[in-house]
Amino acid sequence: MADFETRLVIGGERTAGEGAEIAVENPYTEETIATVRAPSSEQLDAAVAAGLEAQRAWERTPAVERGEMLHEVARRLRERTDELAELMTLEGGKPLIENSDEVGWTAAAFDYYAEIGRDSAGRVIPAIEATQLSMVVKDPIGLTACIVPWNYPLLLLAWKLAPALAAGNPTVSKPSELTPLSTLAAAACFDHLPAGVVNVLCGAGEVGAALVADERVECVAFTGSVKTGKRIAASCAERIARVNLEMGGKDPFIVCADVADRLDVAARGGAWAAFLNAGQVCTSAERFYVARELFDEYLGAFADHTRGLVLGDPMDPATDVGPMVSAAQREKVVAQVAAAVDAGAEVVVGGDAGAPERGHFFAPAVVTGAPAETELLSEETFGPVAPLVPVRSLDEAIEFANSTRFGLGANVYTSDLKTMVRCMRELKAGTVWFNDPLTDNDAGPFGGFRQSGLGRELGREGLEAFQETKHVHVETEIAPKEWWYPYGRDDQAPREGAGA
Ligand code: NAD
Repeated sequence: MADFETRLVIGGERTAGEGAEIAVENPYTEETIATVRAPSSEQLDAAVAAGLEAQRAWERTPAVERGEMLHEVARRLRERTDELAELMTLEGGKPLIENSDEVGWTAAAFDYYAEIGRDSAGRVIPAIEATQLSMVVKDPIGLTACIVPWNYPLLLLAWKLAPALAAGNPTVSKPSELTPLSTLAAAACFDHLPAGVVNVLCGAGEVGAALVADERVECVAFTGSVKTGKRIAASCAERIARVNLEMGGKDPFIVCADVADRLDVAARGGAWAAFLNAGQVCTSAERFYVARELFDEYLGAFADHTRGLVLGDPMDPATDVGPMVSAAQREKVVAQVAAAVDAGAEVVVGGDAGAPERGHFFAPAVVTGAPAETELLSEETFGPVAPLVPVRSLDEAIEFANSTRFGLGANVYTSDLKTMVRCMRELKAGTVWFNDPLTDNDAGPFGGFRQSGLGRELGREGLEAFQETKHVHVETEIAPKEWWYPYGRDDQAPREGAGA
């Protein structure tokens, strides 16, 4: 077994976990590549205590200094791009090129929050009187738990850790039990921060749940499934802890009739949006609503492009689509497609294990004829499946697009400005992409409507998620106010007997 970093970070020290053992599997070779250990309950307690101990000094550190330290994190991450990308590929199965990009985006998030963190102490508001000063001051919330899934281990952590640290909060982070190795290695990029500001644990749901339930944890930032998010929301509600939730999606992808002459582009864009990271992206396109006059041609172009995708070793630069993260995740997708086929759907391309002899592969599938009530069109798939549905009008496309309990992202291919404005206004989604699927922007808030989320990451909103708001009112003249006691008399002498 290669020499992976498997130790936790507690109070600035590397410490071997003393809790449950977790085997980390390579989803391409199906071999166990490392064993990590969760913290014991004493170690979890020590991580929270270390964060609390570091809190006062960290929140008093000037934001400019915190910013410099975060820029240094970004520099160190970039320096270790190859190592971190390889680790993410080994434990998660995402193609190496996508993981190299992920390290770059992760570093960029630290650079972004290093800067806006030192430009966001609040604002001055008009005071009530000329002798007064009124301010809105942004305070750190306090110890923050960052809990993330396996599909973008470092990026989704950065979207929490960077703003939480920039805002002056100490942290305890927990990666997914499926992908702890890249996070434990990346923790070295924080060595220059004061001890206790960044604590890193690993472990499964019990460790996450214990952090969420800990009274000393004031804020929980979570990305993962709706099911887990609801549990976390309920636990935080018990003690009114602050919570930011990024959860699942069922993103629609609308292809309008006016793109007839660029159908090839809309098909390639659609396939990428559906199959990127083997469809294991929270904003994967999972439902295609295509103007019916274009449907056959679009289906043909989409299916042809899909047939040409290369499945294989995610370390190989020629691979387009790697294995899914685990056998269990693959089984869920197999079952959802099988249920749709039972209900009358047809798999036009893919849907089997593909050519590779090992690994949790699911060949990217293009499906037609799935009834609207099947899970394939109403619940998250989180796998490389593109169900295509013809629509009669834009009205129908928007109605179908808004018909689930989710509202994370939505894509539209159109060059018509009127259509763009209608879709922008009417689609119930936290991000609407026109003609450029899934492009994130650190300055653009990211999150979900409905059950896809609560709160936002990225942008200024993503910093405010880790700040409390305080109104500070200053009177510079020490003098009595006319509206104070006693009431109902002109002179200021106390009423007889008052206060006796
Ligand atoms: P998951 O909910 O099973 O686990 C996510 C994290 O929560 C893991 O670290 C896990 O150990 C932890 N956890 C599990 N039970 C917990 C509990 N009771 N209390 C606290 N923590 C607990 O999700 P997953 O399978 O790892 O990830 C896939 C899901 O993540 C999909 O639904 C996907 O849509 C979602 N996701 C959302 C976004 C977004 O930004 N909205 C991004 C990526 C993934």
